[in-house]
Amino acid sequence: MMKAVRLVETGAPLELQRIPIPAAGDGDVLVRVRATGICHSDAHYRRGRSPMGALPITLGHEVAGEVEWVGSRVTQLKAGERVCLHYNISCGECGYCKAGSEQFCTTVQMIGHHLDGGYAEYISVPARNAIPLPEEISFEEGATLMCASATALHALRRGRIKDGETVAVFGVGGLGLSAIQLAKALGAGKVYAVDIKRDKLELASEYGAVPVDASRLDAVDEIRTLTRGKGVDVALEMIGLPRTMKQTIETLGPLGRAVIVGLGQDPIEVHPYRTLIGYEAEIIGSNDHLLDELPLLIDLARRKVLDTSRVVSRSIPLDAERINSRLDDLEHYTDDIRAVIVQPD
Ligand SMILES: [Zn+2]
Ligand SMILES: [Zn+2]
Repeated sequence: MMKAVRLVETGAPLELQRIPIPAAGDGDVLVRVRATGICHSDAHYRRGRSPMGALPITLGHEVAGEVEWVGSRVTQLKAGERVCLHYNISCGECGYCKAGSEQFCTTVQMIGHHLDGGYAEYISVPARNAIPLPEEISFEEGATLMCASATALHALRRGRIKDGETVAVFGVGGLGLSAIQLAKALGAGKVYAVDIKRDKLELASEYGAVPVDASRLDAVDEIRTLTRGKGVDVALEMIGLPRTMKQTIETLGPLGRAVIVGLGQDPIEVHPYRTLIGYEAEIIGSNDHLLDELPLLIDLARRKVLDTSRVVSRSIPLDAERINSRLDDLEHYTDDIRAVIVQPD
């Protein structure tokens, strides 16, 4: 048996349960969980804002740990190896999977959302979802790379960023900070970081971005001025508000690409000629990330080209009360400190 912190009823606090260690098949690995990120999405799942798998379910989709056991058909991993887990479990066989767009797999399921996740002592996943985690990267960092940083990398790839191009990042949270560093790693020239909070803008400039304080300036005008009227090549929206989405599109220059990542529900208005046709600009949606992108991400983190140490800042034990209290904070936006559940050796 093992401990797991689970969603038993939506809208209610998570509960600590004792459940059997999950079964693992021939092609699976059983992983002893060492670190699990507590993500903003988990607060939405607890609240019942997104359709869940059958309850009770163990939350947690940002997971790193040690391989405990491998199935008989698994050749690429062995017991004791450090791994982090890709959270989307796809079939590997359908047209989308074969084309490398597995997030559209007709049977895709996410751990900690549709299947039991990492707020537990053990988790079982298909072996191809477990990616080796080098010694240089802590379990805590490995876990959190699997969500925000991976999503930022996918967004930049969707934006087809090329050497020397200029980038604007709207929103300097965990996603935005990763996006700034990854844009540089992928060859971007100047990166402009837009936010309204001074401490976030300071952090952005420590990572080499040009801060644009939208609390006192019009972000679009300012970026136009800073780029001598040209606008940027790639702009990323990581907030999810109609106003910032519109600004993201309006900061583009000729042949610019606006990549929308923030989960917005409200419609946006776009001036077709001035912003799109005249510039041959593109508006691109970006959703999740791909298994194929994770080795590059892990390599960038190993080489410290991507530093997420400033984002991960609080460790808590596998304890229902502590986890619920972090989820309360995330739900009420009381602070931006990321928490990771750490299970010692
Ligand atoms: Zn997440
Ligand atoms: Zn598939």
